[in-house]
Formats: sequence, structure tokens, C-alpha cells
Amino acid sequence: MKYENGAVMDEIFRKIREYDSIVLFRHRRVDGDCVGATRGFERMLKLTWPEKRVRISDAQSSSRLAFAGMEGKIVPEEELKGSLGIVLDTADRERVSDKRFLSCREVIKIDHHIEKDPYGDVNWVEEERSSVCEMCAVFYSRYSDALRLDSEGAGYFFMGMVTDSGRFRFSGTDGDTLRLAGMLLDLGVDTGRLYSNLYLRDMNEWKYRAWVYENMAMAPGGCVRIYIDKKIRERFGLDAEAAAAVVSLMENIRGCLIWLAFIETDGEDGEIRVRLRSRSVRCDGLASRWRGGGHAFASGGTVYSREEADRLWAEADEMCAEYKRTHTDWM
Ligand code: AMP
Repeated sequence: MKYENGAVMDEIFRKIREYDSIVLFRHRRVDGDCVGATRGFERMLKLTWPEKRVRISDAQSSSRLAFAGMEGKIVPEEELKGSLGIVLDTADRERVSDKRFLSCREVIKIDHHIEKDPYGDVNWVEEERSSVCEMCAVFYSRYSDALRLDSEGAGYFFMGMVTDSGRFRFSGTDGDTLRLAGMLLDLGVDTGRLYSNLYLRDMNEWKYRAWVYENMAMAPGGCVRIYIDKKIRERFGLDAEAAAAVVSLMENIRGCLIWLAFIETDGEDGEIRVRLRSRSVRCDGLASRWRGGGHAFASGGTVYSREEADRLWAEADEMCAEYKRTHTDWM
């Protein structure tokens, strides 16, 4: 097991032990990793120190992750002041869903994205980890003599590892990932139930997927994109979150090195979310230029018009074409 940041982890463990009140934060537009990490951490700390007050502060809801207990509650400002805040899976302060996290007496950042904003008093960032839940599992394994984790808590961490690593396929998945997943499974995770919750879809979603296959388009350089407007979402009865899941449908197209899903959201400012995924060509720089960020091969950004979406697509396509001109190793 890699404990490259042992000293930082020791400091985090000391602080957690010291505080009576701990508040956990995560990013906006929740995903399996940030929900798994916060729910798992909450469970682990409550089991270990039942006398401590441990809460998640986040007003969001999520149709897809309701099964994992999205509370949608925020902690009053007054209570934050004496608390230790732990922010999981969030690269920069703007992306934390509850912006008041900096009111906490001290803040710890635990994250696996490319570092761009060390906003914590203590920052533990490992960019090569496949998920922040993997880091949570590392943390548990290092202090397993002192910490308590049960099948429910292990299940939350396992959920984040599965979802962020694309079921252990994406780069970042290494021997440690599988050893840690094995450690969690040994605690009794109910994988059958978890996979049903994550992957069963209603009939309308399968029909929507067929529409996506029909309507995705490839630019000359090989960049594929799908544009999902509100009318399409309405036709298939999907919210923006459910509609966004289809980015993974485009991941195995030969010659396509970057693929993009644009999803019109319900925001009044006309926000259009873009999900970027790639092979061989890094897409995080492109995402940063379009109001976002993320990982080398999986990132996200925002555009505000169809015209901006087309410009982003053209830029991504030029990156694909350039890569093909200068490399022979692409597929
Ligand atoms: P998504 O397509 O939303 O799953 O995002 C892929 C990765 O990029 C995740 O790790 C996100 O946390 C990150 N990401 C997505 N959108 C943004 C954004 N606007 N700013 C920074 N990071 C983002």
C-alpha cells in the first residue's frame, strides 16, 4: 500500500480526534465519489466516536443517488465556527456546494483532482488516485486499529471507487485500487444491491440512449459530441443529471480521441454543462479554458450558448487532429 503522504494523514487523523464537531462538504453536482466519500466518512467517524457530532452540509438533492442517503441539509453558520471542516473530492473553493465551509475553525481538503486551489489549512491531494473514495480507504487502512468501519460504510467507499474508476477500467486504477476494493469487500459490501441501485434504468432511459446513438456526430478530426437540449430531456422525461449520464456511451468509438456531452440545465442563466472525456489526448486544459477543470482524461466545464458549444467542439476536434498528425500510437 502507498502511504506517500503519511505525515499529512497523521495530521488529519490528529485533528479529527481532537474536534468534537466535524462537518463534511462535497462538490456541487454530486456524483458517486463525493457522496460515497462523505457518507462513508460520516459513518466511519460516527462508529468510531459516537460522542462526536458529525454532519454533512449540503443542500443538493440527487435522483440517481437518493438510495445512498442524500440528506439535503445544511449546518447552521454558528455551528460551523467551532467545527473542523473536511472537504472531499473538490479541487477548488468555487465548486464546494456549501460556500460557507471556510467559516469552519479549520479546513481539511482531501482530493484526487489536479491541484489548483489549496484552500485547506491542511491539504491532502493525490492526483494519481482513481477516486477520493480510494483515498478514504487508504486512510481507513492506515488507522484501522483505531477506526471502525462496517459493511454500510465500506459500501459507500466502494461505490465511489466503482463509479469514478468506471468499474475499475480507467487510468488511475492500479494494484492499490484493487487491494483496497478487496479490503472493503471483506467488510461485507452488498455488491448485488449496489449495482442494481447504480445501473438499473427505466425503459424511457434506454429509449433515450438509442436516441443518443442515433444523434451523436463526429467532426473531421474524430471528436464526437452529443447535444442534449431541454426539449429532448422533456421528451424522455429526464432531469439534467440523468440526461448527462450518456457521456460514457461514446467512449469506445474507434478514432475518437475526445468525446463531449453538452446538456442544457434548468439554470436561469442558460448554463449548458459540458462533460469532456478523452483517450491519449489530455482534456483538462481545454476544460479549464471553458470555465471548468478536472482530470487529465475526464473533466467538465460550462458554456452559455449553442455557438459556444460549437466552438468548444471545434477546439477539441483540432486537438484530436493535431494528436493524430503528430503521433502513431492512437486507436
Ligand atoms: P463530470 O463530467 O461532471 O463527471 O466531471 C468529470 C470530472 O471533472 C470530475 O472529477 C469533476 O469533479 C470535474 N469537473 C467537472 N466539472 C467541473 C468544473 N466546472 N470545474 C472543475 N472541475 C470539474
